[in-house]
Amino acid sequence: MSRRLFVTTALPYANGAFHIGHIMEYIQADIWVRFQRMQGHEVHFVGADDAHGAPIMLAAEKAGVSAEAFIATIQGGRKRYLDGFHLEYDNWHSTHSPENTALSQDIFRRLKQAGLVYSKPVEQFFDPVKGMYLADRYLKGECPNCGAKDQYGDACENCSSVYSATALKNPYSTLSGAKPVLKTSDHFFFKLSDPKCKAFLQAWINQKDRLQSQVANKAKEWLQGEGDKALGDWDISRDAPYFGIRVPDIAEEKYLYVWLDAPIGYLASLKNYCTKKGLDFEQTMNACEQIHFIGKDIIYFHTLFWPAMLQFAGQPYKAPERVYVHGFIAVSGEKMSKSRGTGIDPLRYLSLGMNPEWLRYYIAAKLNGAVEDIDFNPDDFLARVNSDLIGKYINIASRAAGFLSKRFGGKLVGVESSNALVSGMQADAASIAEMYDGREYGKALRAVMHWADQANAFVDQVKPWELAKKPGSDAALQRACSDSIQIFRILTIYLKPVMPALAKQVERFLNVPELQWLHAGELLPTGHAIGEYKHLMQRVDDKQLDALFDIRPSADVRKEDAVSDATISIDDFNKLDLRVAKVVRAEHVEGADKLLKLTLDVGGTTRTVFAGIKSAYAPEKLEGLLAVVVANLAPRKMKFGVSEGMVLAASGEGPGIFLISPETGAAPGMRVK
Ligand SMILES: [Zn+2]
Repeated sequence: MSRRLFVTTALPYANGAFHIGHIMEYIQADIWVRFQRMQGHEVHFVGADDAHGAPIMLAAEKAGVSAEAFIATIQGGRKRYLDGFHLEYDNWHSTHSPENTALSQDIFRRLKQAGLVYSKPVEQFFDPVKGMYLADRYLKGECPNCGAKDQYGDACENCSSVYSATALKNPYSTLSGAKPVLKTSDHFFFKLSDPKCKAFLQAWINQKDRLQSQVANKAKEWLQGEGDKALGDWDISRDAPYFGIRVPDIAEEKYLYVWLDAPIGYLASLKNYCTKKGLDFEQTMNACEQIHFIGKDIIYFHTLFWPAMLQFAGQPYKAPERVYVHGFIAVSGEKMSKSRGTGIDPLRYLSLGMNPEWLRYYIAAKLNGAVEDIDFNPDDFLARVNSDLIGKYINIASRAAGFLSKRFGGKLVGVESSNALVSGMQADAASIAEMYDGREYGKALRAVMHWADQANAFVDQVKPWELAKKPGSDAALQRACSDSIQIFRILTIYLKPVMPALAKQVERFLNVPELQWLHAGELLPTGHAIGEYKHLMQRVDDKQLDALFDIRPSADVRKEDAVSDATISIDDFNKLDLRVAKVVRAEHVEGADKLLKLTLDVGGTTRTVFAGIKSAYAPEKLEGLLAVVVANLAPRKMKFGVSEGMVLAASGEGPGIFLISPETGAAPGMRVK
């Protein structure tokens, strides 16, 4: 039966570029969408930028541009990533759009009519200099429990106690440094604690196959919490100034909280797309299964607030059919972080000429249907692409195609019904399809590689290269090569959701129309002529991986646009153990474009440090020089070895990196303060 699907990925916050974590989620969803389309299902696949909220308002202010201009620049940068990794969204929109304003205000009004929105006064800190209310992250003060200074408005990093911002002693605004005052204003709340919300969510969560079991269990735990863990009502409005959507039907200038309008952005993007395509938005939204791909960090919103909001807004809105949750991606065991942004830079990956389908294949091979973190390991990446993808799969075509075009005008003979390998592969179509549908991509690719192994064993057994030399063996040669091509075609169908561009090349080479899943059950007939074989895929070069990971040490000399106005305390500064170090030895690192390996004398002990200063210093110039090293930086495992610290250097907009070096007289091991 044909399905109608409306598929989304989590909306990225419009304050920065995509990192590898975003790309992983988009690849996961894109593979699923392409697979469903190959089944003949109707899929509407949309994304959008999450463009509202105080952080964007403040970031734009700091950059000296309007919030609209700020988010437009970010949005303008998305296409390079989406095109670059073959992420085939039907539409990419923004929550800062007329569609989202209309939909968010409509949903707010409907929830109010349903008796699920009420207002009550909230006492909050207000920055009299900035003229705005302060969220907890813009407040600091002394911990009410242990007295530690410069603690955030919600929890103490020193003693781990949790408190409300109003409990802080000597609070100050991190935006202006001013002493905040307590002020009261009316906020709107969504009544998630209402018994009818809870009853609905209970049933929604328990629906079979709606959520992965880990996710359903987590959601139930929140739903059934009691005492201070009981499900609370949700504060859904913010006072001006705020960058967002106005609360409708009131005279005062208040805004919908960004987390309310963000998921509605899924619908806004669909609506925008429907308008472009001449489709009826409400009919499409209502008829489609609504499926959200998200990361494990936003389960709460997508399994509690979001379905309840949609359900009680009423028709044509409806709660999502499924929420598919994935884990995070780490690089060689080091967790990706949005704020640090370390790891693989997706644009750098592309600019190095690395094939996007290598990454799609590698990520797919690691993914399953559970909420598990995955790890990007450079050696594993190289092995899987070069040995599996090229060694096992691409080679089948390259070995057979030459003989067919040179000796038989590219013409095939049909497969004999006795070929058990071909019929076995065909019989596996339904099982592999089930794996894709369940997002068990790793399993699906293992099944495909199992068949590729069998195919290579088959080629080794029939030995076309020997048949080619043996007189009177033309028929046998043509059959062996034809069977190889038929096998290669079926493997391509099974890999197509993961590697769409490669599949397109193969379709041209095989001279066949767009491959669909059901084509796995068919075979090319006798007399079908294939096209000329052109090289289908390069191998990963180790040097490319070196260059890809070189970006991390260069962060040592990261450029800052302006002197930061955020302050740190003397205690913060004292956490740094800065020492004078003497460069004992400086060496080139095999295969690294930017790195030098430094051996440092730090007053009796030696340290190995990799520094991204190769562009500015010849190694022989460094030996004997004094430098400043961060001695208590956690050791960092890099591709070339472990770096046990970091040397300080200056850099600016222009070229040049300048090592910080103490005056003559300083000795290795001295503390720098
Ligand atoms: Zn404390």
